[in-house]
Amino acid sequence: MTTKQPTPDRDNGTARTLRFDDAVELAQCVVAAPRPILIGLDLDGVLSPLVDHADDARLLDGVAEAIEQLDTFKDVAVSVVSGRALTSMRTFGLPSHVHLIGSHGIEVANTPMLPLTDEEHTRLSTLRMLAQEAAAMAGPGAWVETKFASVAIHVRTANPDTSHWALANLKQQTTAVDGASCKPGSNVLELFARHTSKGAAVVQLRQTINANTVVFIGDDVTDEEAFAVLRGNDISIKVGTAPTIAQHRLSDPHAVLRWLTALASGF
Ligand SMILES: [Mg+2]
Repeated sequence: MTTKQPTPDRDNGTARTLRFDDAVELAQCVVAAPRPILIGLDLDGVLSPLVDHADDARLLDGVAEAIEQLDTFKDVAVSVVSGRALTSMRTFGLPSHVHLIGSHGIEVANTPMLPLTDEEHTRLSTLRMLAQEAAAMAGPGAWVETKFASVAIHVRTANPDTSHWALANLKQQTTAVDGASCKPGSNVLELFARHTSKGAAVVQLRQTINANTVVFIGDDVTDEEAFAVLRGNDISIKVGTAPTIAQHRLSDPHAVLRWLTALASGF
């Protein structure tokens, strides 16, 4: 490839010019990788552009068709791995047979979830109360999303100053809730009553399909947990300009669409 290998954001903490991979050349790398191949795709900011309110997010035209094509190839498995709840993921119009993992790995499509324990129920109630209080502190534009085992506060359209303070305070409060954990994202903080990570989900997926290569692409902080479990021939791709441990970068969901389209025609 003619592009950088890899993106060394962490080196020395020095300023550097970000360079993006060529989408078609990056697709060729994936096509040439040892099979079976697992392709893990984040959703928001990757397959759909980021929007002010999560309910307004839509797949870019052509994404669903490219994924549908990819999923027909022998020894290629596609999974969409999102922080969204499965019910929310299903509103996007993704191909019906594509494997979905929601809530950062807590929800797996067609797999029964372990019910919340009494302890987790109590913990979740506490976290919901704290999140509601934080949303009130952050002010207009902040809103709370309730999921099966977690609660997320979104502040993309709230005042940045009050939001920053409210989320920092909420993060601190969460550390005092026994057994709880939190994950910061882009203008969101999610609090968990049950521990999970996209990394654990990817490890499980790798085992399930006995993948020789795992490709994972994501844009947010929580995707770094997936990048962290990749190894050897695996391929990690960051979307956007945020710091990352990923080997490669694409600029935005439009570049991801070019990558997916090239993949779909290359296998
Ligand atoms: Mg994302």
